[in-house]
Amino acid sequence: MSERFDEGQLVGVLTTEPLGRPLDYKAPEGGCVTGDLVEVPLGPRRVLGCVWGKGEGGFDPARVRPVTRVLDAAPLRDEMRAFLQRAADYTLTPLPQMLRLATRAPDLAAGPATRRVLRASGREPARETEARLRVMDALDAWHGARVTASELAAEAGVSSAVIKGLVKAGVLIEEDAPRDLPYPHLNPALPHKELSDGQAQAAAALRASVAGGRYGTTLLKGVTGSGKTEVYLEAVAECLRQGRQALVLLPEIALTAGFLDRVQARFGARPAEWHSGVTSTERRRLWRMIGTGDAQLVVGARSALFLPFRELGLIVVDEEHDTSYKQEEGVLYNARDMAVLRASICGAQVVLASATPSLETWVNADSGKYARLDLTARFGAAELPQMRAIDMRAERLPSNRWVSETLAAQVQTRIAAGEQALLFLNRRGYAPVTICRACGHQVGCSECDARMVEHRFLKRLICHQCGASRPVPEACPACSVEGRMAAVGPGVERLAEEVAERFPEARVSVLSSDLFTTARALKEAIETIAAGGADIIIGTQIVAKGHNFPLLTLVGVIDADLGLQGSDLRAAERTFQLMRQVAGRAGRAEKPGTALLQTHQPEHPVIRAILTGNEEDFWRAEAAERRMAGAPPYGRMAGIILSHPDVAVVFDVAAELARRDGPLRAIGAQVWGPAPAPIARVRGRHRVRLLVKADRTAPLQAALAEWAAQIKLPTNLRLAIDIDPQSF
Ligand code: ADP
Ligand code: ZN
Repeated sequence: MSERFDEGQLVGVLTTEPLGRPLDYKAPEGGCVTGDLVEVPLGPRRVLGCVWGKGEGGFDPARVRPVTRVLDAAPLRDEMRAFLQRAADYTLTPLPQMLRLATRAPDLAAGPATRRVLRASGREPARETEARLRVMDALDAWHGARVTASELAAEAGVSSAVIKGLVKAGVLIEEDAPRDLPYPHLNPALPHKELSDGQAQAAAALRASVAGGRYGTTLLKGVTGSGKTEVYLEAVAECLRQGRQALVLLPEIALTAGFLDRVQARFGARPAEWHSGVTSTERRRLWRMIGTGDAQLVVGARSALFLPFRELGLIVVDEEHDTSYKQEEGVLYNARDMAVLRASICGAQVVLASATPSLETWVNADSGKYARLDLTARFGAAELPQMRAIDMRAERLPSNRWVSETLAAQVQTRIAAGEQALLFLNRRGYAPVTICRACGHQVGCSECDARMVEHRFLKRLICHQCGASRPVPEACPACSVEGRMAAVGPGVERLAEEVAERFPEARVSVLSSDLFTTARALKEAIETIAAGGADIIIGTQIVAKGHNFPLLTLVGVIDADLGLQGSDLRAAERTFQLMRQVAGRAGRAEKPGTALLQTHQPEHPVIRAILTGNEEDFWRAEAAERRMAGAPPYGRMAGIILSHPDVAVVFDVAAELARRDGPLRAIGAQVWGPAPAPIARVRGRHRVRLLVKADRTAPLQAALAEWAAQIKLPTNLRLAIDIDPQSF
C-alpha cells in the first residue's frame, strides 16, 4: 500500500546493493511516498534505492541518516513492488538483485535529459530581413512545439548566425526543455485488416477478455501463417481503447522491424522498443514514459517485463515456446512464466501465441487453467506444407556429402521455377569436429569440456558452449604432426560449400547467427531473401523464428534426427517444435510448400508425429510420459548449480549437500546427482548440478532455501538455483 512519509519520519529503503533487506532512513525535506526512487547515503557512497515501506526503528534516531533526494522518476507502484517481491521469492533471487533488474535504465539518478529550445518572445524583429521572416514563418509552422536552434535553421534554410541574431535581439527566447519527447499516439480506431472468420472469432474472444479488465491467460495456437499477429493486435487495440498499456514480447530482435511495420499499419504510428539494440538515451526516455503511461505499447525482449508500467492491461508473449525466453545468467527466470505472474498481480490479460506451444502451456490449456483459441488454417490461399521423410539409409551418400539425390532433385525443380528452397541444418560453423588424422586427437576447448567447432569463414575454431576461440591449428595440438587436421561432419558452412558445387548457378544465402555482427545486418539479409534475392537459403535455428519468405516453397531438413539424441526429457518436444516451425516457413504465400526430412529413423515416434502433424496426439503422449516421470508440469524441478575452479572441491560440496537433504525430504522431494551440469565448465569454473524433484504443491522454494543455507560455502564457490530448468 502506498503511504506518505513526512520529513524526518522513518522509511525503509531497499537499495540495489546486496544487503538483503530495506535499511532505515529519514524521509527528506518535502517527504516521500512508498515506491519513490531515491538516492541514499551508504557508507561513503550514494546509491539508488526505492522506498519500500515504514522503517523498522530500534536504532539510535540520531544516527539514522536522511534520504539524500527523491529522484525525478516515476515511482515503483504497489503492483510493481509486489511483482518484484513475488518474482524474487519464486526464483530465490535476493530482492536487491530484482530491484536492479527493474531500475536498469541508464543513469536514472541524472533525471530527464534537457535540451535548449526556442520560442517566440512576441517582440517584432527591429529589422526585418528575408531570412528573419523565413525563420518566423518556420517557427509558426512548428505550432508551439519545442524546436532547437539547429532544427529551426534547417527548417528555414538559414545559417545559425541568423538565429543567434534573433536571440540577441530578444525576438527568440532560448530555454531548457525536457528531451523526453512524447511518443506518437497509437490510434486503435483506425480500421484493421479484414479478418478471416477464424481470425474474427479469436479476435472477438480476446477483445472480450481484455475488456473484462481482469487477469486471465489465453493460449493462441495457430499454425504458422495463420495470422496470429493480426489477431493479437486486436487485443492490443482493445487494451489501448481502455486506456491501458500493452507489452508485446518477441524472442528475437531481428523480428522487431517487421512487427513495428505491422503496428504502424494498424495504429498509424510505431510503438516504443526495449531491447539491447536500443540506445541508452532512448531507454531512459522509455523508462520514464512507461511510468507516466505515455508509452502505450512496448515491443521488446524479456527484460521489458521489469519496466514500471503505469497501467498494464495486456502482455503478449509471441512464439511462447521459444527457449530464449529463459534467462540463463544472473537472475534465472522464464519470461513467459513471469509474464503470467506479473499479469496476475496487476489484473492484466496474457496472450501466449505459438504454432507449437510448450508442453507446459499445452497442459495448462488442456486442464482449463488457460483459455485456448485455435487458428487451424493459414490465412488466405496459403496452405500448410506437405511433409515427407527421406530415408537416408536408402540414399547411400558419399561420406562428404549431406544432400540426398531426392532432395537435390527437388531443389533443382524449385529454383528452375523461380522459387526458393531452404536447407536447414541446426549446426553453426564448418564442421562440428576437428580431428587429427595422424593420431586421432579431437580438438577440445581449453576453457570448458566442449569440442571446438571450425568456422572457416572466420578462420577460427570456436567453442559453442563458452565462446572461447583460437586460430585453426596447422599442426595437431597433441602429436604436432602438420597438415593432417581434418573436418568431420557437416555444419552450415560446409553445407554451403556442397550446395555451391552442386548448384553452381544458384544464388546462395547463408543465415547463421555468427555470420552477422549486428541485428541490422541480419535484418537486411532477411529482407533481401524475402524480396527474392536468393535461390537457396541455408540456415540454422534463426530461420525457424517467425520470418516470412513468400517465394519459399521447399524446406529440406538435412538431419532431422539431430535433436533426438541425448537423454533430455524435453528432446522430443524440442525436435517437434523446431521441425514444425522450420517446415512452416514453406508455402506461406499462394504457392503450396513441401517439407522433406532427411532421417535415418523414419519410424521414430517423434519423426512420425512431425510428419503426420497429428499434434494433439503427440502432446497427449508427451504429457502422459511427463506425468509418469513426475516431471514438469506435473511435478516441479529445480537445479542447484555449484561452480568452482577446482573440480574436486565442487563435487565434495555437492555431495555433502546431497547427503544433508533433510529439508527436502521433509517436503517429499528427491535429490539426484551430483552430475556435471549441462554446461560443465565455463571460463575455467567446473559446474556441477543437483536436480531436485518435488510434487507440484510442495513448498519447494522454502525447502531449497533452508537446504542451501545449511552449508558454509568455501570461498569462490558459487551456488545458483535454477527453478524450472530448461533441461532435465
Ligand atoms: P503467424 O504469426 O500466425 O505465423 P502472421 O500473422 O505473420 O501469421 O500472418 C501471415 C501472413 O498473412 C502475413 O503476411 C500477414 O500480413 C498476412 N495476414 C494475416 N492476416 C491477414 C488479414 N486478415 N488480412 C490480410 N493479410 C493477413
Ligand atoms: Zn569452451
